Amino acid sequence: MQLGVGQDLTGALSIPIYQTATFRHPCFGESTGYDYSRSGNPTRRVLETGIARLDGGAGGFAYASGMAALTNLLLLFKRGDHLIVTEDLYGGTFRLLDKIFSQYGLAAAFVDTSDPELVALAIKDETKAILLETPTNPLLKVADIGKISAMAREKGLLTIVDNTFMTPYLQRPLSMGADLVVYSATKFLAGHNDVVAGLIVAKSEELAERLYFLQNSVGAVLGPQDSWLVIRGMKTLGVRLDRQTENAQTIAGWLAGHKAVRRVFYPGLETHPGHLLLKEQAGGFGAVVSFELLDKSAAEQILNKVKLISFAESLGGVETLITFPAYQTHADIDPLERERLGINDRLLRLSVGIEDVDDLLADLEQALIGEEVYV
Ligand SMILES: *Cc1c(COP(=O)(O)O)cnc(C)c1O
Repeated sequence: MQLGVGQDLTGALSIPIYQTATFRHPCFGESTGYDYSRSGNPTRRVLETGIARLDGGAGGFAYASGMAALTNLLLLFKRGDHLIVTEDLYGGTFRLLDKIFSQYGLAAAFVDTSDPELVALAIKDETKAILLETPTNPLLKVADIGKISAMAREKGLLTIVDNTFMTPYLQRPLSMGADLVVYSATKFLAGHNDVVAGLIVAKSEELAERLYFLQNSVGAVLGPQDSWLVIRGMKTLGVRLDRQTENAQTIAGWLAGHKAVRRVFYPGLETHPGHLLLKEQAGGFGAVVSFELLDKSAAEQILNKVKLISFAESLGGVETLITFPAYQTHADIDPLERERLGINDRLLRLSVGIEDVDDLLADLEQALIGEEVYV
């Protein structure tokens, strides 16, 4: 995967880390193109042009976290505007809209976006955009990006896709009609659980210009060292995702046949309601697998007993992680609402890494031992 070349004269294969706040001007009235690192930094720019190219957009922007990217994105809207948002989306995005942007008069309707009819019904005069997360977190529901963005375009609304779970390697929303793509680059893009970062890609020059103005004005930019780590991670995105997806498919099938497991949520399983749609709009099913146990005590037991797998938040990295969404990533959602969405206290989420799949299955098996007796 080519990310683009820097301005380096030495031939260094790895892009240099331009650890500088400011840039010397050649003379009065001239600039090298770089003045101050909030406004632009050469290492960050390689990442920004790289992600824009991968997604097929006019401009890319790198931020200090996925939440900083989402905050910048939401600043495109103003008091009185209304957004339609995927209901079971990342807990942090829900909190940002529900607790922070609501105070500034930006309203949001949370809708099951796997049903385009429900999206159509939620459109009001004040609606300005549809923010999709697909597949969703943690239940992996799939929204039809092409159909929803065509409908949005007809009504003059923007379509924004949080593409964190897929990355441009598996899914390219701009090519299906979306206007903006946002990422937590912390996850699959960087891929090593060693950096927090966010990215936005804008399809049009006009949106890219507005985002550049916001990025420079608000200033939550990604530093040069962290930009370098994301670039380094992205060089292996394809091979990592191939392996992670293959492992996830094997584990999802294994869990589906386990007696202690009530339901498995993985779009790679033919029984998953989004299976055919995701097969059509993406190049793979990703590496996040959620599963509901028959018994709450089994959830706690697994978290306490896993050895190779780590009980830790986050996803997308080379190491397999397991989380308890109701108590971690989605703790800010009202308990009744969580239950309605299916994010209950028996649901665990795996982010599958690149380890040997037999080692992962053995770890899950030993963590589940004793559970068969309860069923
Ligand atoms: C993690 C995540 C975010 C937030 O990103 P940070 O880098 O943690 O700030 C947003 N959306 C999705 C889908 C995520 O998984």
